[in-house]
Amino acid sequence: MTTKLPVLITGGGGYIGSHAVLALLDAGWPVVVLDDESNSTGVLVPRDVPYIKGSIADRPLVASLLRDHGIGAILHFAGSMLVAESVTDPLKYYRNNTAATLILLEEAVAAGIPHIVFSSTAAIYGAPDRLPIEEGDPKLPINPYGVSKWMTEQMLADAARVHDFNYAALRYFNVAGADPDLRAGQIGKTSTHIVKIATEAALGKRPHVDVFGTDYPTPDGSCVRDYIHVSDLAAAHVAALEKLIERPHENLLLNCGYGKGLSVTQVLDALDVVVQRKVPRVIGPRRPGDPPQLVASNRALVETLDWTPAHADIHQIISDALAWERKLADGILT
Ligand code: UDP
Repeated sequence: MTTKLPVLITGGGGYIGSHAVLALLDAGWPVVVLDDESNSTGVLVPRDVPYIKGSIADRPLVASLLRDHGIGAILHFAGSMLVAESVTDPLKYYRNNTAATLILLEEAVAAGIPHIVFSSTAAIYGAPDRLPIEEGDPKLPINPYGVSKWMTEQMLADAARVHDFNYAALRYFNVAGADPDLRAGQIGKTSTHIVKIATEAALGKRPHVDVFGTDYPTPDGSCVRDYIHVSDLAAAHVAALEKLIERPHENLLLNCGYGKGLSVTQVLDALDVVVQRKVPRVIGPRRPGDPPQLVASNRALVETLDWTPAHADIHQIISDALAWERKLADGILT
């Protein structure tokens, strides 16, 4: 058996990164976390994990930690991820996502890191007219968030052609839920994602849920998304890393979703079923930058990786998110 070298997890204090930390530890990988705490606090990272507070754009810091910890692979989550904010503050997205990753990548190449797993997004596809979306479909992002991630994928593709590493770009659809054992969940200082907002409303932390648009060309008029449980997504990262190691001359471009679309209305109906009452909704206007429908083809993910979804039910996603939200409300983490 090959030695498992430490894996650097950038953004490992954040929502998806912290679940990836747990999944890697569960699979026997040593991990090191680098996080600038711009949208997290480090509280979700187990105490015995080496944790460095800092930025992926801090070149000397990145260079020294890659060397000092003997890093053998990078899982790169750090970045900004709010579609609406990217429309109003686009340069933040080109700085935090694209320019900062360039520095990380240059240092990774200089240090000879052989494998990189990158957090990409369905937003690179823009507003596709064909569903489900295949990995080879056109990349026509309609917001700066999607552009910033697509630019990063292109940097990785070009660099991997001439430098000695392979990479996986995991294109996340809508990530939601929480670790079923409640070791991690969403605590971000800024959250705008529907499942998080909806569970907050269910617990009375908000008066209602806004529905951003019911005039889209979709079956019930609200936007359709492909929601994936964060623990299934974390497991896909472990599987992708292990596949990169097994096939060092291949890159992996993989949609991460269940291949099933749910509308905002259907998500809120599922919430009502879970909490057994009607959580108030307010129908409002569209949110800028939102494409009407995003549904993954996950054929490549299922066929390429040793991965099967374990939590692919919206009611479970919502009830795990809700249980986590209750834990937050109990003040256990503060
Ligand atoms: N949405 C909504 N109300 C909210 C938050 C989101 O109606 O309070 C809608 C949003 O317009 C989109 C869908 O829910 O159609 C998913 O949005 P989210 O922010 O969760 O993820 P995104 O698809 O933007 O990454």
